[in-house]
Amino acid sequence: MRRSQRRIALLALSTLVGSILVTTGPAGADPTGPSAAASRSQPEDRESVRLVHIRLTGADMLDKVAAAGFDLEHGLRRVPNGIEGEAVVTAEQVTELTAMGVEVLGDDAGFAWSDEADGGLGVGAASARAAQPANHDATVRVVRADWFTTKGQGFLYVEARTTEGQQADPVVGMQVENDSGKGTPFGFARTMSRFVDSGQYMFHRNLFKLDVRPNKIKLTSSTGGVATGVVSNWLENAPPPLTANPSYKSDFVDGYRHPQQLFSRAKEIARQYPDIAEIVYLPNQTNGYQRKAQAQIGGTGQAAVVVSSTAWGHQGGNDVTVDFVDRPDPDLPLAVEVTGKAVRVLLATDASGAPTSTAAEVAEALRTRSAGLIDRAHPYRTNEGTGVVAPTAGPVALTDFLDQKRVGAPEGEVPRGPATIPVLRIGKHRDGKKPGVLIQAQDHAREWVPATTSLESAERLVHNYRSDRETKKIVENTDVFFILSNNPDGANYSFYNFASQRKNMTNHCPDVSADPAQRNSWGVDLNRNYRVGSGHDGYAGGSTNCVSGTYQGPEELSEPESKNIIWLVEKYRNIKFMMSVHSNGGQLFWQPGAYIADGRITTPRPPLGDEAFYWQSAARILSQVKAHRETVVTPENVGGSSDVLYSSAGNVREDLYHTYGIYAFGWEVGGSVYNPATGDWQGGSFQPEWDGNPELVSGHAETMEYANGIMEMFRVAADWGRDRKNPTSQLVPGAGRYSRPVDVRFETSEPATIYYTTDGSRPTLESPRYAATEFREPGQVFHVTETTTFNWFSVDSAGNIEKNYDPTKNDKRNNYRTATIRIAKR
Ligand SMILES: [Zn+2]
Repeated sequence: MRRSQRRIALLALSTLVGSILVTTGPAGADPTGPSAAASRSQPEDRESVRLVHIRLTGADMLDKVAAAGFDLEHGLRRVPNGIEGEAVVTAEQVTELTAMGVEVLGDDAGFAWSDEADGGLGVGAASARAAQPANHDATVRVVRADWFTTKGQGFLYVEARTTEGQQADPVVGMQVENDSGKGTPFGFARTMSRFVDSGQYMFHRNLFKLDVRPNKIKLTSSTGGVATGVVSNWLENAPPPLTANPSYKSDFVDGYRHPQQLFSRAKEIARQYPDIAEIVYLPNQTNGYQRKAQAQIGGTGQAAVVVSSTAWGHQGGNDVTVDFVDRPDPDLPLAVEVTGKAVRVLLATDASGAPTSTAAEVAEALRTRSAGLIDRAHPYRTNEGTGVVAPTAGPVALTDFLDQKRVGAPEGEVPRGPATIPVLRIGKHRDGKKPGVLIQAQDHAREWVPATTSLESAERLVHNYRSDRETKKIVENTDVFFILSNNPDGANYSFYNFASQRKNMTNHCPDVSADPAQRNSWGVDLNRNYRVGSGHDGYAGGSTNCVSGTYQGPEELSEPESKNIIWLVEKYRNIKFMMSVHSNGGQLFWQPGAYIADGRITTPRPPLGDEAFYWQSAARILSQVKAHRETVVTPENVGGSSDVLYSSAGNVREDLYHTYGIYAFGWEVGGSVYNPATGDWQGGSFQPEWDGNPELVSGHAETMEYANGIMEMFRVAADWGRDRKNPTSQLVPGAGRYSRPVDVRFETSEPATIYYTTDGSRPTLESPRYAATEFREPGQVFHVTETTTFNWFSVDSAGNIEKNYDPTKNDKRNNYRTATIRIAKR
C-alpha cells in the first residue's frame, strides 16, 4: 500500500509537519410488529423483532456478526471504542449477540458521541515531553482539523496520525490542544482516541464541543512527536441554497411513497413535461413481489415437513391444500392422492394401525407424487426428518403470507409478480452530450427517505425549470436519470408486510433456510451484488449466507436490479456522476469502499485529483444540506467508506467508478442531528415519523434538506461539463539552487492529478502519480538530496490537461512542465 521509494535521492517523506488540508481540498424505528399471526399454518420461531442499540469492538466483529446472519446495516457509526449501530433482532438473537461479545445497549435511543472532551489530562508523560523543544524527528501529522457550527454550538473535529500508531505495546497516545483564536496560547489538552480497523491503525480522531473557534491545534504523541496545524472551516459560510430564492418552488412531497406511487408519479412527470422529461424502462424485470405458498405440517422438530408450492402463491399456489391422513387399517403403505389442488398424503401404518411415516418419507412422497403441485418438501432446518408425522385435523392451505399486512400498511393491494422499473430522465438536451447524473434510491427496501428525497429533487427540477435561472441552467446542462426505487419488490414488502426488509425478495436459500419462518431474511443485498471489490473476490462485508442482511447473491450481478444499473451506464455513456442514496447515518461516501480483511487491502484509491474533487463536491453538496436546518454531516463521516466506516464488498460505487470512471457517491441521508436541548447528537431511523419534530428526526425535514444536496450535485455536474479551463500546478519551492537538501511538493490550482518523472524522461499517463502522504492527507513531500529534474503535467477532474500538453503522443512541443532543483555539492 505504501509507495516504494523511487530513487535514493528522492525520499518520500512521510513526516509532513504542520500541514493541513485547505477548506475544499483533500481537503426504522418501526418496531416492525409481526403481521397478524399466521392464520392457517403457524411456523416455528415466529417472534416479534425489535430495534436495539448495539456496540461492537470493531470491523472484525461486525463481519462475524453479519456473517452469522444478523441484520445490522446502516445507522452504523464509528465511536472511539468501536462501532455502534442498530440491529433488528428477536429476543433470542439478543442472547446470541451477547454471546458473540456484542454489547447490547438496550432499545434504540439517540446516539451519544462519547467523546473525551473533558478528560485529557491523563497523558502526563506526554505533557512533560511536549514542553521540550520539538526538534527531534516528527512522528505526528495533522490529517484534518475542522471547525463547524450547528444550532448555535461549535465543534472541532481532529484527525491525526502518528507514524508509531500501529505500535500496540504500549499503545502510542495522542493529545490535542487548541488555541482560542489567532495569537492566543495553546491549552485545553484532551486525549484523542485511537482508531483501529481490521487490525490496522488508521488514525486518531475525535469530535470536540467548543464554544470558541480555534485558529490552530497542537498535537503531542506520548512518544514526543509534535505537530501544529491551522483549523479549517467545514461547511461554514456556504452560499445561499436555491430555496433562498423567494420564487423557487419546493416541498412537493408530503408523505412516504410506495413504489407504485413513485413510478406512477415518474410517468406522470414525463407526460406533463415532455420537452424536458421522458421515461427509460430498465430491461430486466425484477423477480417480483411474489412468493411460493408454504406451510409447515406434521408437527415440530423432527416431525415437521416444510412444503412449498410449485406455482407462485397468486398464480395458484395459495389454492393448494395438503392433508396428512390417518387410516385405521394396519400395514398400509404411504400413498399420495391428488384431486384438483388438494393433496392428500395417506400415512403408512404399522401392524396395530398406528401411523409410521416419517417427515423425510412424507417429504419425499410430496416431491415426487404431488402431480407437480409441490415444488419443495423437506424436513425442518437441519433435522433429518426422523420423527413420525402427526395426521392433520383436515386440509392445510398453503399460503404465500403476502396477504398478511403489517400494522400501518397503506391501503390497497400490491401488484403481484415482476415489476418493470421506470427511470425518469430529465434534461433539456438528452442527446448524450451533457453530463449524465444517476440518482439511484432505495436499493435497500426499508429506506423510505431516499425515495422521497429523490422524488422531491425531480419535482424541483420540473417545477422550477421555467421560473428559476439556476434550475434552468441545471436542466439545460445535465442529463439526469432518477431511479426512485431500485428495489420495488422489497420496498413493497417493507410497506405492506415487514417494515425492516432490506434486501430484494429473491429466495436463493437451500432447504435449511427455506421454511416460512425465515422468509423475512431471504433476498439479496443489491448493494453487495456488483463486480468490483466483491465478496466473491474475497473482499469483506458481503455475506455468503442467504439469510444474512448483507447476502451478496450466488454470483456477481445475479439480480435483475443490479444488471439494470450496469445496462443503464453502458447504454448512456454520458453518465459521469452517480449517487446511491441510502439511509440512515448522515454520511457521504466514495472510494475505497471495500477491503480484503487480511492485511486490510482496499480497492484502489482514487488518484489525488479525484480525491480532491470528491472532497470539493462533498463540501458543496453538504453545505446545501446544512442550509436547510443546520444539519451537519461531519467530516469523520465523509470520504472513502471503508476508511471511515466499514468494508462493503461488491457495492455499486466501486463498480461504477473503477469500471466506467463515474464519480460514484453514496450517502446515508437522515443522520444524526445535534439537539441543543440535550447537548447530544440524536440518531435517525429508516422510517422516521414523516411529520416528526422538524428540528430533530422527521422524514419530511430529511427529504427537504437532502434534496438540497442532490440539487447541488446537479450543479457540480453542470459545472464539470462546462469546465474547459486547464489546471495549473507548481513545484513548491520551485526550481533553483539550494545549499542543502530541500523538501518539495506539488500544488495545483484546482483538484487535479499530477503525473511526474524524475529521470529526465517525458511524463505520460503511465508515469508515477503524485500521491497523498497517506490516505485523507494532502500530497506527499519529497526530500531532495541531490540535483533532480521534475517533469510533470496535471489533469483536472474534467480531463483538461495543463498547457494542453498531449501525454499520449510524442509531439514536438513537449509542452509539459519542468523544474530542476539544484543541490550544491558540499
Ligand atoms: Zn442502504
